[in-house]
Amino acid sequence: MTNRERTRILILGGGFGGVHTARYLERLLERELSAGTVEIGLVSRENYMVFQPMLPEVISGSIGLVDTITPIRRLCPQTNLYTRTIDCIDLERRRVTTAAGFGSPPHALPYDHLVIALGNVTSFAGQPGLAEHALPFKYLGDALAIRNRVIHTLEEADIERDPEARRALLTFVVAGGGFSGVEAVAELNDFVRAAARSFRNLMREEIRVVLLHAGPLILPELPPSLGRFAEMLLARRGVEIKLNRRLEGATADAALLDGGERITTRTLVSTVPSMPNPLVAMLGCEKERGRIVVDQHLALADHPGVWAVGDCAWSIDARSGEPAPPTAQHATRQARCVAENVAATLRGKERRAFSFRALGKMGSLGHRSAVAEVFGVRLSGFLAWWLWRTVYLMKLPGLDRKIRVAMDWTLDLVLPPDIVQLKTDKPVGLRREHFEPGEAVFHEGDRGDWLYVVLDGEVDVLQTVPGRGEQSLRRLGRGDCFGEIALVSDRPRTATVRTLTPVNVLAVDREAFQSLFSSFPPLRGFFEQLIEARR
Ligand SMILES: Cc1cc2nc3c(=O)[nH]c(=O)nc-3n(C[C@H](O)[C@H](O)[C@H](O)COP(=O)(O)OP(=O)(O)OC[C@H]3O[C@@H](n4cnc5c(N)ncnc54)[C@H](O)[C@@H]3O)c2cc1C
Repeated sequence: MTNRERTRILILGGGFGGVHTARYLERLLERELSAGTVEIGLVSRENYMVFQPMLPEVISGSIGLVDTITPIRRLCPQTNLYTRTIDCIDLERRRVTTAAGFGSPPHALPYDHLVIALGNVTSFAGQPGLAEHALPFKYLGDALAIRNRVIHTLEEADIERDPEARRALLTFVVAGGGFSGVEAVAELNDFVRAAARSFRNLMREEIRVVLLHAGPLILPELPPSLGRFAEMLLARRGVEIKLNRRLEGATADAALLDGGERITTRTLVSTVPSMPNPLVAMLGCEKERGRIVVDQHLALADHPGVWAVGDCAWSIDARSGEPAPPTAQHATRQARCVAENVAATLRGKERRAFSFRALGKMGSLGHRSAVAEVFGVRLSGFLAWWLWRTVYLMKLPGLDRKIRVAMDWTLDLVLPPDIVQLKTDKPVGLRREHFEPGEAVFHEGDRGDWLYVVLDGEVDVLQTVPGRGEQSLRRLGRGDCFGEIALVSDRPRTATVRTLTPVNVLAVDREAFQSLFSSFPPLRGFFEQLIEARR
């Protein structure tokens, strides 16, 4: 059989929507797959599926890092997996292009049926400083980055003597009072307070954990009584909840709130906002709030053979008339419906309309407590927590993962929290930073570790003159650089640089600067002249 005679089903995305679509299709099209008349392909950036409901527990280490993920190849053994980044979806020419891989060229994948399950993405666009200084929380890598940051700040605080710097290190801020924000703050709070016991110089009273929520009550997805219960419980465990407060920006050492309030912190986690996946945003099809509009069969009206499920799809429930919310429960049920409809289309049978009423909603609050609403019954505390664990353990794909997580949970009951910091960061070299007016970028006498180039705004260069205090040497703006003297001469900073306006800079680290400086003569000449002129 030639490729053209075979029906090609291509699934985009390896999350709940994509992987479950492949699994259901493998079952429904078993005969066709064995006969070779159908082939299923799945393209995803990672070769694993993340079970997001358990991600908050990765922060605290109560579940091992890789125990929340399952290899896609094991879940869908009959599917051709392309572990690639998708570059372009061409609905007119009916093909998908993936980026070049590890030593191999880009792929063009033609399809007869296309299922788009690309989810959404976290975006900090329009909020100054968030991209540079806030930690997102959506992927496995995010949970690891948050855990590492928290342990790093505890290590630093243990040896820091300056009270102001200690306060910033021991303050942890989470923005977003929905499920992921509340679960993240609960785990983070439990973890830092338990981990602090292993540090000789940390007192639990010094730790401050703050939850910011833009609405009047956290967990707006649940009935108000459960939201209030969660607030009370978290407050009792030491979480400071700021309601009706919005995160507006961030600097390296502060979270900036609406109304001008700033919270000094070195750890800011933001679970909001979500944005459409850029690939979906570029698609020339009908959209509602950035999501792909599908009919009741989950198909795109103007593009036969193209379907969409999960967080990236805008589907109206056939019974309730309500749009399906972006949850794993809905993505999984839509996956089943779309697989049945693709199979029905191939066999010339009738398709079914998507309808699903969520069985319940649950949120873990750490410390053996949770809130839940199941079949209309409201539960809170230990019973809800037991139900939460049982349900999610059952839903976690793969028997081996179930066994690992059950063992993790059991050991977590008796063992102290693990405080190992995994140093996975690559050398930074170059990064962007944001500063608010009046902030010091560095102080006279500091070690010179970065060179700065001003992208926007204005800074004042100040030097202490005996008997006269700080005197302004010069003002610098867009396109100017500063910080070079300490890097070239290997001396401490000879001046303080303070921002006059909101400032965005590009920072080049010492190692990257010195490699360029020593190996690129024109750059060396430029900086020598600049230093001479500034003297
Ligand atoms: C921390 C957290 C906790 C949550 N807890 C719950 C919960 O308790 N209950 C619940 O029902 N829901 C929960 N959710 C929501 C749930 O995870 C989502 O609704 C669900 O993941 C949506 O599935 P999806 O398949 O549409 O998208 P996703 O699971 O986001 O999958 C999208 C896939 O597309 C891939 N992709 C995207 N762009 C590209 C590209 N350019 N190239 C290649 N691949 C690409 C991604 O790598 C990913 O594999 C939680 C979410 C988070 C972040």
